[in-house]
Amino acid sequence: MSHLDQAAPSSGPRGRHAVDLQWFRGELEQQRRFRLDQLTDLSYQAAGAADDVQGEVTAALMSGARTVLAEIDAALFRLAIGSFGVCQRCGRAISVDRLQAIPMAGLCLPCQYVKESHQLGPDIVDVWGIDSFPASDPPANW
Ligand SMILES: [Zn+2]
Repeated sequence: MSHLDQAAPSSGPRGRHAVDLQWFRGELEQQRRFRLDQLTDLSYQAAGAADDVQGEVTAALMSGARTVLAEIDAALFRLAIGSFGVCQRCGRAISVDRLQAIPMAGLCLPCQYVKESHQLGPDIVDVWGIDSFPASDPPANW
């Protein structure tokens, strides 16, 4: 998270681009509710999976939904600290077109290409963690 400190250059995107933060906040919160509902549905499906194949499909869907949820949470965090719309890698403003298409985008398009072509590690913090939903039970013999 230390690279957030240098997210805003001195000339800054502030005042230069008109990003409607309220709109993005609403959009992100709507998508967040959708993903939470989806995870709830999937956890019921996982509990009642008829066979291993269905269980694996459900697990894969849950993993994908958790990843998106972490990206949404990270974007809401950037909104809260005032660095929304700033590329997390190069510090330049992310284009409004890109943000409207993908409100949780944390990278500008050039950096996204670099990341995908070089297979760099994830730049988001997985605030949920792979084992945190649902909370893991204590060992059975405790
Ligand atoms: Zn960038």
